[in-house]
Amino acid sequence: MHAHPTLCSLIPMVIVPCTVAHAGPQETASQPAPDGPETAARWTIHFDISPIDRLVIRAEEVLEDPDAFWQTDPAYHLVRSWHEWNNIPIPMRTWRTRVEAYANMSRSERNRSPAVRMARKLRKQKNTLLQKAVPHICSFLPDLPTGMTTTIYFTAETYPRAIGVGDNVVLDVTNDYWQGSDSTLLNTAVHELFHAAYGWHLCAQTETPLANAAVYAQLSTLHNEGLATFVAYKAQHLFPAPAEQDYTLLDDPARVRRAHKLVNRLLREAETLSPDKLCKDAWRIGVEQRAFYVLGAHMARTIDENVGRDAVADTIARGPRSFVSAYNNVVDEEQRVVEFQAPDQPSWPHRLRLAAAQRDYDTLRQLLATAALPEAGDMFAAEEPFICAGRLLLRHERYDLAVEVLECTTRLFPELAAGHYFLGEACRHAADADRAVASYRRTLELDPGHLYAPARLKALEKAASAEPE
Ligand SMILES: [Zn+2]
Repeated sequence: MHAHPTLCSLIPMVIVPCTVAHAGPQETASQPAPDGPETAARWTIHFDISPIDRLVIRAEEVLEDPDAFWQTDPAYHLVRSWHEWNNIPIPMRTWRTRVEAYANMSRSERNRSPAVRMARKLRKQKNTLLQKAVPHICSFLPDLPTGMTTTIYFTAETYPRAIGVGDNVVLDVTNDYWQGSDSTLLNTAVHELFHAAYGWHLCAQTETPLANAAVYAQLSTLHNEGLATFVAYKAQHLFPAPAEQDYTLLDDPARVRRAHKLVNRLLREAETLSPDKLCKDAWRIGVEQRAFYVLGAHMARTIDENVGRDAVADTIARGPRSFVSAYNNVVDEEQRVVEFQAPDQPSWPHRLRLAAAQRDYDTLRQLLATAALPEAGDMFAAEEPFICAGRLLLRHERYDLAVEVLECTTRLFPELAAGHYFLGEACRHAADADRAVASYRRTLELDPGHLYAPARLKALEKAASAEPE
C-alpha cells in the first residue's frame, strides 16, 4: 500500500469502496489500537455493551473498589479523561448513590431496569449499525480511516451523554435526552463515529491553515460538527431520531438563518479576540446555542445537494476553509459565510506536517535540520502539527523519521504527554525498547490516566523480563 496516492493530490477525489471489519463481541478494545500501518484497508469497529452489565448487574463489585472500576473499565476510563480534559469534576456522590440503588435491587429488578432494557434493544440493532450505518458514514469520507480501531461503548450513569475520545466513542444509555428512544441513541452513535473518522483525516488536511490557530480551530469545529450532524441526519432512514433537537432546527429555515447570522458575527470579530475570549464565545454560540451544528449541517447539505457527495468528501481531505468556499460557491451573496485570507505559505510546523502527509521525506529532513519553535506570538494549539506529523509517519511506517520528529516535539513541548507517548510508539517500532519504556514512563508521569501507555509499558517490561540474562 506504499504506492497509495497522497491525500494532497489535486486530482478529483474517488470514494474508496467502504470495507469495514467488524470485530466480534468477544473482542474488547482493552488492547491498544495498532498504530495504523496501512497493511489492511479497513476500519475496525467494536460494539461493546458490557459496561452496562458491569455497572448494573455486578454493582456490588463496582462498589467494593470504585477507584479501580473508574481506572480499569475502558468506558469509564474514557469518561474520566473527558472530565479531566474539560475540567468538569465527576459528580461522584450522585454516581455512587445510583450504583448503590442497583446494588439494593433484586436480580429481576435489575434486569427490568431502563439501562438493561436499553442494552438489550441495542444488541438487536448492532448489525444495522455495523453493516449499514458504517458504510453510510464512509460514503462521506475521502478514504477509509485505514488501520484505525474504534470501540463504541454503551454505558450508564455517567455525566456526559455522548463523547468521542480519540478514536473511541462512549454513549450513556441512561441519559434523559434520548427519551427512551434507542434509535435516537444509535443515530447519535453515527454522529460520534463520524467524528472519529474526521479526526483520522484531520492531520493530513491539505489546505494552508490560517496563521491564527484559534480562529482556524473554530472553523474546524464548524466543519466537523456540521458534517457529523448532517451525516447522522441523513442516517434517519436507518435510525429515526425523534428526540434529536438539532434536526428540528435544521428543518426550520428561520433557525438556519439565525445560526448563519450568529456564526458570521462571531467570525467577523474572531481575529480581534484573544484565543480565550474566542473559545468562550464560540462555546456559547456554536455549541450551547447549536449554531455550529445547525449552520454546518446546512452547509454540508447544500454542497451535497448542489455539487454531490464527492465534493463533501473533498472538503474533509482539504480542510475547513475549503468547506466554507465550497458552500459559498453555490449560494447567493447574502447566504455566504465569512471567508479568511489564507497566508501565502504554511507555518514551519504545518510545512513539517504537510511534508509527512505527502510523504515528501526530503523536505521533511530539511525542515528538521532547521527545527524551530512556531512563529512567536501564536502558541495556541502550536503542538498539534508536530503530533500530527509524528502520527502520519507512524501510519506510513517511517519509524526512523517519526523518532526524529517526535524527539523534536518533546524538546519543544517537554510537558506534553502525547509527545512522549508517540515517541514511545516510534521507538517501540524502531526496536529501541529502552527508550520506548522511558517515554511511556514519562507519559504516565505527565498523564497518569493515559489510555494506552500502561498496557504498552506492561508488555515491554514483560518482554524484557522474559529475556535470558
Ligand atoms: Zn459532535
